[in-house]
Amino acid sequence: MNEPILKVENLKKHFPIYGGVLKKTVGYVKALDGVSFEVKKGETLSLVGESGCGKSTTGRTLLRLIEPTEGSVFFEGEDLLALNDEQMRMKRRDLQIVFQDPYASLNPRHTIQKILEEPLIVHKLGNSEKRREKVFQLLETVGLHKEQAKRYPHQFSGGQRQRIGIARALTLNPKLIVADEPVSALDVSIQAQVLNLMEDLQEQFNLTYIFISHDLSVVRHISDRVGVMYLGNLVELSNKNEIYEQPLHPYTQALLSAVPEPDPDIKRERIILTGDVPSPANPPHGCKFHTRCKYKMDICEKKNPNFIDVGNGHFVACHLHQHDR
Ligand code: SF4
Repeated sequence: MNEPILKVENLKKHFPIYGGVLKKTVGYVKALDGVSFEVKKGETLSLVGESGCGKSTTGRTLLRLIEPTEGSVFFEGEDLLALNDEQMRMKRRDLQIVFQDPYASLNPRHTIQKILEEPLIVHKLGNSEKRREKVFQLLETVGLHKEQAKRYPHQFSGGQRQRIGIARALTLNPKLIVADEPVSALDVSIQAQVLNLMEDLQEQFNLTYIFISHDLSVVRHISDRVGVMYLGNLVELSNKNEIYEQPLHPYTQALLSAVPEPDPDIKRERIILTGDVPSPANPPHGCKFHTRCKYKMDICEKKNPNFIDVGNGHFVACHLHQHDR
């Protein structure tokens, strides 16, 4: 599990803000402001953070569902951003996405058969008989029955619809799946079933996951490593145990303090973050978290801390953990 399947370097997505009568560009929303990380084959890297931190933009940008402003994305050593539309279309067989709201992402007028066989038709794979068999097999893989292929999305529960969303992502035998808040719209009782299914499928098909969530408690079980994002940047990235047991960044510590701790012997003091998340159109100078950080020092307002490895692949961007203050 050591080979990186994906390498993201300095990825940026700046959305222009238009103003005035002539609709000129008057600024940029820096949704993603220079993110770098690697994902190893077969691992689950989770990206977490509050709404607007750039985690979903990261997922969509690296799949080129939205085009990045700057940066590189290497998948199995190949630069995805150098591919033309047709080459990228072919590459999408390997790179799939599962969306948060399965109902919105499934065409309500199509049967499940039609929804699941569509990627096969687009990529000209198999005849109608082979496609039907593949759909039956996919439904069984995600714990549904082949008889349900004739039904429409509204005839399924939320959890079943997300199983269909996962089946669709599996149709072309992908290598990497970006799961963007895949269980956030589901009841808590159903969330664990879908997460368990995703874990089983990962093992069965040797999948690599980038799992995006606003909730650190959801990703605890499924992650190998966790990256914490704030205002378009990664502020901490480490293996799961270190993030949950020894978080270094004050923002990670605050997020974790709100997560119920399964071990009754571990007591965490709840850290309430004051102030709103600043606008990504006008982020604070220096460390972007300084307006909400109780450890703020003079340097924090002036200098953006580097994102550095403080040992054992534990990366953090905070002056408390740098020696150049
Ligand atoms: Fe807080 Fe400063 Fe660290 Fe930013 S760099 S998180 S403001 S201590």
